[in-house]
Amino acid sequence: MPEIQPHPLRLPAFAAPGRFWRGNLHTHSNISDGLLPPAEVCRRYRAEGYDFMALTDHFIGAYGYPIVDTLPFRADGFTTLLGAELHSGPMANGELWHILAVGLPPDFAPGDAPDFRVHPGMETGPQIAARAVAAGAFVAIAHPQWSGLTLADARSITAAHAVEVYNHGCAVGCDRPDGFAIADLLLTEGRDLTMIATDDAHFTEPDHFGGWVMVKAAENSPESLLAALKAGHFYSSQGPELRDVVVLEDWVVVESSAVAAVIVQGAGTGAKAVHGASMTRTEVPLARLGASPWLRVTVVDAAGRRAWSNPIRR
Ligand SMILES: [Zn+2]
Ligand SMILES: [Zn+2]
Repeated sequence: MPEIQPHPLRLPAFAAPGRFWRGNLHTHSNISDGLLPPAEVCRRYRAEGYDFMALTDHFIGAYGYPIVDTLPFRADGFTTLLGAELHSGPMANGELWHILAVGLPPDFAPGDAPDFRVHPGMETGPQIAARAVAAGAFVAIAHPQWSGLTLADARSITAAHAVEVYNHGCAVGCDRPDGFAIADLLLTEGRDLTMIATDDAHFTEPDHFGGWVMVKAAENSPESLLAALKAGHFYSSQGPELRDVVVLEDWVVVESSAVAAVIVQGAGTGAKAVHGASMTRTEVPLARLGASPWLRVTVVDAAGRRAWSNPIRR
């Protein structure tokens, strides 16, 4: 049973010391199937005002199982985390898993996925995810809707820290960006999970600068960012800023950049929206969510762009 929390309860991202750093956790280069070389990918993210990024090329034998060395592209005010998108399989639909791993060591052992096909006896998705976590990585179940993930598939990745709830490349490329449906079901089953928005940029279409994480950490260093990601000290955004989220007995109080809607979601059909003009401090009543063991917050700005808090247990 979850611990009964005292009220008021401030979401950890806002209670943690430090400041917010903007980063993209899911990116490809021409080391796998992306368009641009790693140096140019890093340059563009830095030029667009990102504080950090993770280059996560496909960890496939045909590409040499790359953990791309992005250390040469770190600069004043811009850092990189080493990572990869891991593939092994199969999922229930017979296709290979896509599992995002950020904070991998450069010598992370190759898998047995020579290409994007399933081979008999190969390492399973749950096994490679657990191996990445044991090696120190922050691990997320990538693009559930695009993958055609079943709930049983999602349950099986017990090592994952997070679910990719918004994938900008999947939004642009096939209008299947969602991970919230499956993440909400896992939360209701009692799993502790956080939620990330990413680009999954390949630069082959307008799949970049559309979804990111804001990570609260004392400094913009790989170690500090990785610890904060694992601790859930972040929120996700397409534009709006979340500044504070406090859960009271009967209300959630949300401070944000100017938004047109603030929505609190919980288990089952539990949700409550408050609509208004240029709202920066919004009180959302919890009557419809009284029984939910967890809550999360979405804000929507006038242009329809969203920011999403991590879930919190009550
Ligand atoms: Zn993928
Ligand atoms: Zn990807």
